[in-house]
Amino acid sequence: MRFTKITASIGPKCEDKKTLTAMIKAGVNVCRLNFSHDTGEVQGKKIDLIRDISKKLHTPVAVMIDLQGPKHRIGNFKTEDKYPLTVGQKFTFDTNDKPGDSTRVQLPDADVMKSLHVGDRILLNDGKIEMTVDAATPKKIVATVVRGNEIWSRRGFNLPDTEIDTSVLTEKDRADLDYAVTKKPDWVAISFVQRPEDIAEVRDFITARTSHPIKIIAKIERPHAVERIAEIAAVADGIMIARGDLAVEVPFDHVPAISRHIIRECRKLNKPVIMATQMLGTMVNNEFPTRAEISDVANAAYLRADSTMTSEETTIGINPVNVIETMDKILSYADGDAIANPFDWSRVENIPENDWSRSVASMAYLNRAAAIVVFARDTNIAMQISCRKPDIPIVAVCSDSATANQLCLLRGVFPVFDNDLFAKRDAFNSARKFGVDSGKLVIVDDDKISLRTLD
Ligand code: PEP
Repeated sequence: MRFTKITASIGPKCEDKKTLTAMIKAGVNVCRLNFSHDTGEVQGKKIDLIRDISKKLHTPVAVMIDLQGPKHRIGNFKTEDKYPLTVGQKFTFDTNDKPGDSTRVQLPDADVMKSLHVGDRILLNDGKIEMTVDAATPKKIVATVVRGNEIWSRRGFNLPDTEIDTSVLTEKDRADLDYAVTKKPDWVAISFVQRPEDIAEVRDFITARTSHPIKIIAKIERPHAVERIAEIAAVADGIMIARGDLAVEVPFDHVPAISRHIIRECRKLNKPVIMATQMLGTMVNNEFPTRAEISDVANAAYLRADSTMTSEETTIGINPVNVIETMDKILSYADGDAIANPFDWSRVENIPENDWSRSVASMAYLNRAAAIVVFARDTNIAMQISCRKPDIPIVAVCSDSATANQLCLLRGVFPVFDNDLFAKRDAFNSARKFGVDSGKLVIVDDDKISLRTLD
């Protein structure tokens, strides 16, 4: 049984019905649609297809849309050539839209220009080039190259030292979200979150447009977000450790420690965590992962992340279905091994002893329960118990498909969408439907918690 969920990025190599069906059969729990690439109705059609397959397979699947966010890019150069930048040379960024050369280029974003200060680092081209700002005015930044490499048109850049005074939603994000809410996604992932207010801004934007309970994932990829992780996790509904940009913005050797820290903070706050990026990256071109990737995926399960995520290995890889089968295999074995070992109570440190979800988890553990059955009116109760990481399956009986889909992201939660079982509060048949035929059940129905034996 696999407790760690699989979030799969959906792209050109897996958005046809046949491949998507095979991937969901192979174990995809959440489909991530990256709005940095397609937008509007193109993504809308993919959402319809996922819903359609999920219904046909009687398998709940969550849809997560991922907004591009304020990803910054430099302007264009005179030619398509690559321009070498060498250590010690000066380079200027300005607001002039004339094409760049080996001494200067346009920086189209006024908010970025006015946020930079002397001494701030500028990282270009995935961190391959590093510069330090020598002089900063709202129209002109002069910097010295500290690490050299080649630069060319429209390269992305990161500003690890600079809190950028800008909205977390760009004009493009607003247009994308405006459309996306009409398709009722289960989760919306927000890129380049810097502060808790960013989450409030997105929530206001969503609630002004729909009453559908769309949940918000904060992508942690900026040092400023790492510093304020507890405040951000408190107001978001979940967290994604976006290791791609994170490893550019913080020293790459800090990423494992930061990941553990984020998981710990989220556990305290009952918030799910997705471990993302390059998990099986070499499978873009290969049928078999590296040993290091196998360990990375397994370690996410041992850390009790809620979900691992695929990126290019499913969007543009040679065999997306094989990627999911591989991830499923690694996670299933690691989860089984982790669960076979005794519950480690240090994992609930800092959680008050009178926390009711801790009581449910400990009751299930101490009674060696076969399952925890939750009657889920919404995601709240199942989410709180899941975040205690009880290492015991949580069968969440739902009366609506939206709740069942949303719960797909959560570690160890197995949603059962069945109005009848929900209406009758039929814990025994719910457990049987999930595949548990005997053993003790901890049953949670609102604030009523009971222990019963299924023979
Ligand atoms: C990342 O940076 O790790 C990430 C998941 O974000 P994106 O794929 O949107 O760059």
